[in-house]
Amino acid sequence: MKKIVLASGNKGKLREFAQLFATLDIEVVPQSDFDVPEAEETGLTFIENAIIKARNAAKHTGLPAIADDSGIEVDALEGKPGIYSARFAGANASDEDNLDFLLTSLQDKAEAERAARYQCLLVYMEHENDPTPLISQASWEGRILTESVGNGGFGYDPIFWVDETQCSAAELTADQKHAISHRGKALRIFAEQFQKTK
Ligand code: IMP
Repeated sequence: MKKIVLASGNKGKLREFAQLFATLDIEVVPQSDFDVPEAEETGLTFIENAIIKARNAAKHTGLPAIADDSGIEVDALEGKPGIYSARFAGANASDEDNLDFLLTSLQDKAEAERAARYQCLLVYMEHENDPTPLISQASWEGRILTESVGNGGFGYDPIFWVDETQCSAAELTADQKHAISHRGKALRIFAEQFQKTK
């Protein structure tokens, strides 16, 4: 079984990755198992940040690495928080702080202006100097609610309304979320590429 290090310490993401990789012949190990220092996300795009994180994890572990850079874009905020989703309310903000800050930022916005989408960018690098990383990207359309609903998922899920299921992302089961989410879709694209080339 191939071992891949996951370049993330985000517990919500780790849970989702473990479930999805269980179907492939891949063991995913979090970078925290190797005391990998956090990479500074200095990129201005999801792809730059994903490459920075994957390279950092591969460099410090000597293992192939996969990184996810993701975030939420809100139309009324010209695409913010985007790549800054994890630190929207400040450098050490919690998921709850970020969610509250987004609700406050949108408090005078009408329903029609609350369109949003999650973005997920995955980068897989065989080693730190891999010149041809596998890259997959997917998004998930929704709308920002005016208050939290549901206890599942993580991050902004309690305020992310999903039209196709008529509930918030935090009311979906893990399997339902994987079937339609930005991360689920990006991982399926990744799996297809991985099986063809690696
Ligand atoms: P990253 O770890 O730097 O890629 O930051 C991703 C941030 O985007 C997370 O901390 C969440 O705030 C948000 N995010 C990404 N994917 C999801 C999701 O599936 N549900 C809820 N929030 C998400």
